[in-house]
Amino acid sequence: MSFFSGKCLCGKITYKCDAEPKAIFNCHCEDCRRATGSVFGTNLFVPEEKVEIFGEVSSYCHTSDSGSTMTKFFCNNCGSLLFGKNSAKINVLSIRAGTVDQIDLIKPAVNIFMDSKIPSTSIDKNLKQASKMPS
Ligand SMILES: [Zn+2]
Ligand SMILES: [Zn+2]
Repeated sequence: MSFFSGKCLCGKITYKCDAEPKAIFNCHCEDCRRATGSVFGTNLFVPEEKVEIFGEVSSYCHTSDSGSTMTKFFCNNCGSLLFGKNSAKINVLSIRAGTVDQIDLIKPAVNIFMDSKIPSTSIDKNLKQASKMPS
């Protein structure tokens, strides 16, 4: 039994995750904004080996400000961005929250990269905040 599941817009890529998310962040960095096409990205972080992906994902690599290699995984049919990997975080897969089926699971605990936030984005004051990436 999987803990949660998800899919892209067209349904060509689906996934199952067997573990509870270790962390859920709203990320306001410019990379997340441009990659998602949204004003911020919400990511669930899970152990990579707990995720089973069905369907062929395409990838795109870029270098983050801190020098890590960041890989984005997306559907080459509908363009949905589903997953991300950071070379500095071994065995961690990030999952884009908007692709998750169990919407009640999506409870971000912190807003990160607040320094890069779009001024009009409203923030839940009950959540923690970090100017950049918490270490
Ligand atoms: Zn798709
Ligand atoms: Zn980000």
